[in-house]
Amino acid sequence: MANAIFSSLPTTVFEEMSGLARTLGAINLGQGFPDDPGPEPLRAKAADLVLNGYNQYPPMAGLPELRQAVADHYNRTQGLDFEAAEITVTSGATEALAACFLGLIEPGDEVVVFQPFYDAYLPMIRRAGGVPKLVSLKPPHWRFDRAMLEAAFTPRTRMVVLNNPVNPTGVVIPDEDLALLAEVCVAHDAIAVCDEVWEQVVFGNARHRPLIAYPGMRERTVKIGSAGKMFGLTGWKVGFLCAAPGLTHALSRTHQFLTFTTAPNLQAAVAWGLANLGDWFRDMPRTLERSRDRLTEGLRREGFAVLPSAGTYFLNIDLPGSGITEGDRDFCLRAVKAAGVAAIPVSAFYEADKVSSIVRLCFSKGDATLDEGVVRLAKARESKGADA
Ligand code: PMP
Ligand code: GLN
Repeated sequence: MANAIFSSLPTTVFEEMSGLARTLGAINLGQGFPDDPGPEPLRAKAADLVLNGYNQYPPMAGLPELRQAVADHYNRTQGLDFEAAEITVTSGATEALAACFLGLIEPGDEVVVFQPFYDAYLPMIRRAGGVPKLVSLKPPHWRFDRAMLEAAFTPRTRMVVLNNPVNPTGVVIPDEDLALLAEVCVAHDAIAVCDEVWEQVVFGNARHRPLIAYPGMRERTVKIGSAGKMFGLTGWKVGFLCAAPGLTHALSRTHQFLTFTTAPNLQAAVAWGLANLGDWFRDMPRTLERSRDRLTEGLRREGFAVLPSAGTYFLNIDLPGSGITEGDRDFCLRAVKAAGVAAIPVSAFYEADKVSSIVRLCFSKGDATLDEGVVRLAKARESKGADA
């Protein structure tokens, strides 16, 4: 049975929908990536480093300059106290997550996971022998409370996985909920794996607070970041594991046999970007916020019910509230095939007790793409009427 875990999995919904968009020539508001090429100085730096920099294996834990730059960045922007020795560079957050699950879970350990969850979590937790314990969050607020946590945590809980800001909901988790989760983690002596890849993509008055900063969490939390999300270069796959020395040691044993290292020229470029592109971190969220607002307004004008989004590249529409009676997956398949616009069904982020009335849209796109996306989504809604 264990051997079937990976081979029986379907293709991820992101690849499925992007594949359909490519084949059909549809607008892609599905998979999360920007359609602008990313900060030019950073790409120029990377190009120079490919030509003139070091292109052999870097140290296993990452280039010293990048480990230091990551520590400095978090200490400066999130009030943390990391040292370079607490940072391990990985090939994207995906590898960082794999290192956490393979390195810290013993077979039979329970792992608390909030659904909707990022799609990589459950297969990898199970492959590591973990037993997922799901906490189901529901629209429109997607919040958890003490009773929900107490129902999920048991004496066998080894780990909780928290994604914040949250893909796909666009929620930036409030202080009081994080404080509650920290309290429950400490009470159960659990490790927190915090997938914070969206930490720089936060809008308006919302503020990202890292769980590792809460009382009792410094020694039991692994904070995960991704340069791909920080700089809007999702294909770069340069990630970070940040944790106290004991956890870092365990994670580095796993990382050494997963990928061992990550492209040295991209690592050096990211180190340069973190130290020199402060303006980017101010301007990028503002640009994205304008795109979020443009898509929201366009959708509302067409009568779609849009849920609030305080962070990430994503906002969600409520199908019944938008006059759409079919399930999210059926709507998304029809939208890409009949109307030429790809989106992501949020039910793909659930395993049990699925919410199938919500569709995720990516707004990190140019104005013309967003406007045409709205037209096509409206067409998709109407084409159902034509089918009936
Ligand atoms: N976690 C979350 C919540 C994500 O949204 C993503 C990708 N968008 C990842 C992890 C993977 O990050 P990376 O591309 O750095 O592997
Ligand atoms: N994180 C991206 C998203 O949510 C997709 C990454 C992937 O395709 N695996 O759209």
